[in-house]
Amino acid sequence: MHLLSIDSLSDAQVALILDEGARWFEYNRQPRRNSKRLDGLTVINAFFENSTRTLLSFEIAAKRLGAQVVVMQVERSSIKKGETLEDTARTLNAMRPDALVIRHGTSGAPGTVAALMDCPVINGGDGIGEHPTQALLDAATIRHRFGHVAGLRIAICGDLKHSRVARSNIKLLRRLGADLRLAGPPSLMPDDLPACDIDQAVDGAEVVMMLRVQRERMTEDLGDAPGEYLDRYGLTAARLAKATPHAAIMHPGPINRGVEIEGDLADDPARSLIILQVEMGVAVRMACLDLLTAERVA
Ligand code: ASP
Repeated sequence: MHLLSIDSLSDAQVALILDEGARWFEYNRQPRRNSKRLDGLTVINAFFENSTRTLLSFEIAAKRLGAQVVVMQVERSSIKKGETLEDTARTLNAMRPDALVIRHGTSGAPGTVAALMDCPVINGGDGIGEHPTQALLDAATIRHRFGHVAGLRIAICGDLKHSRVARSNIKLLRRLGADLRLAGPPSLMPDDLPACDIDQAVDGAEVVMMLRVQRERMTEDLGDAPGEYLDRYGLTAARLAKATPHAAIMHPGPINRGVEIEGDLADDPARSLIILQVEMGVAVRMACLDLLTAERVA
């Protein structure tokens, strides 16, 4: 079994990951964690795009479960000598890993690799494709705060066009029964998604999830003056006042302070779940690794 997309998971598997993630979250708060569930297994992390949260949390997750973790140094690998992704996959497979976590700038690359591997492959973010473990950790964070996802009004706002996080979250949060509102600048909204104005999206929302403006994936210049994006499309205190009084703020990180979100809002401990999302990320990735490798340790 691979975890390439939210579609890779049945409803029962989603429920299991969220339940187990909540359990690992409490476990991780203990002073010592010495689980041996993945004892004797090898996990490879191959990140062809930059990462702080996803890379480190997968490494910590695998180590907390007792696995041996190898991080492929992409910058120093034979990719730089022109090796194809397929040949790299065959090479990694020959080393008999028990799970591979891959991030790649090309949408669909994890699927190409998975077809050549004998072990589970987890998509750690592929181009503008999907980022399934981010959506799972987001759903787990929402459940931690509200106790449920079903029926919540959730606004997802910003650069939806380039956001693999949004793509996975739209699938998952809809499946879990959330009432989604999507908003972003017209040039950063995919054609196939119904969008509204950010003020309408935030109005009455229980959760406001902001997305980073992914300038590295844009060919065109947004042409915005400093402060203009925040005023027109970002989360400001004035805009947040339209949400429910207990509304939570989320963002997958990294944050562009003063662009898609006012820095003070990101730091507000009463409203912002951003740091909790990071903590939940380790727990949910433990649940994912455990589920995917279960048949190998059975
Ligand atoms: N860290 C997330 C991702 O890799 C979101 C972002 O980069 O804006 O997709």
